[in-house]
Amino acid sequence: MPDDMVEAHINGVRNAVAAGWRVLERGGAALDAVEEAVVIMEDDETFDAGRGSFLNRDGKVQLDALIMEGATLRAGGVGCVERLRNPVRAARKILSESPHVYFVSEGAERFAVEHGCELCRNEDLIIPREIERLRQYQAEANSQGKDLFAPAVSHDTVGAVALDGDGNIAAATSTGGTLNKAPGRLGDSSLIGCGCYANNESAAVSTTGWGEPIMKLVLAKWTADRIAAGNMPEWAAQEAMNYLQQRVNGHGGIIVLNTEGKFGIAHNTPRMAWAYKTTETQDAGVERGQ
Ligand code: ASP
Repeated sequence: MPDDMVEAHINGVRNAVAAGWRVLERGGAALDAVEEAVVIMEDDETFDAGRGSFLNRDGKVQLDALIMEGATLRAGGVGCVERLRNPVRAARKILSESPHVYFVSEGAERFAVEHGCELCRNEDLIIPREIERLRQYQAEANSQGKDLFAPAVSHDTVGAVALDGDGNIAAATSTGGTLNKAPGRLGDSSLIGCGCYANNESAAVSTTGWGEPIMKLVLAKWTADRIAAGNMPEWAAQEAMNYLQQRVNGHGGIIVLNTEGKFGIAHNTPRMAWAYKTTETQDAGVERGQ
C-alpha cells in the first residue's frame, strides 16, 4: 500500500466496520454483518474487490467471493464473475437459496440474476487507475522478460469477520484477484478454508495476499484448527503468517475471531488496513504485529 493510499484504506475499513456494526446493533446476524461490511469495500474503489479491482491479463475484471456461517457451516461462493458489482451478494444468495455451495463464471452470473442480483457490464467495474497499473506492469514485465504473473505486487482483497448477540460467527472475503492473472485463474479468496472459513466450533477467518501459497496451506482452516485446539486468535493469526512465510514463502494478512469475541490481526506484508469495533472499544490502522 503506497503512502498516498493509506488514508483511503483506513477510511474504507472504518466504513465497513460501521456498516457491519449497524447490523449487529439492531440484533442482526453475524452473517448479515459481514455481507454488509464487504459490500461497502466492494463499492469502494480503493480496494481490489468489486469496481476498481486489479485487471487480469486481458484487461478485464474477474471477481471471486465467499461467505460462510459458523453456526450451520452453510457457505456460498462465486468465482471468475465478470458482471456483478457485488459478488458477495451473489455468494450470499447461494448460501441462502441453493443446495450448492459454489458457482463460477456465466453459471454464477445466471444464478445471481435468477435470484434478484443485477448484472453490469465488465467495463463498469474498470477504472483508469487500474488500466494504467496493468499497462505499466505489462510494459515492465515485457521489457525485463519477467514472469507475467504478479505475485509480488500489492494485494488488496477485502474481508470481514463478525460475532453476533446470539454467539454466532461468520466470515466473508471478496477479491478481484492478483494483477495480470491469467483469465480463469481462481485465487484463495473464494475457496472454503483457504481465503475464508467460519465454524462456531473454531473461528471465523478471512485472508488476503498471494493466493497460491495460501491455497496450498488451506490457511484459513489451518488457523481455525489452531483455535479449536485451544489457542488464542491473536497467537493463531501470527502463527499463520509465520507458517505461510516459512513453509511456502508466501505473503499476506489474516483476521481471526472466535465465539468469545477474542480476535487476532496479523500480516507479513509491510502494511494491511484493518479496523475493529467491540462493545467496549474500536480502532483502525495499517500496521500491526510487525
Ligand atoms: N488473495 C487474492 C488472490 O490471490 C489476491 C489479493 O489478496 O489481493 O486472488
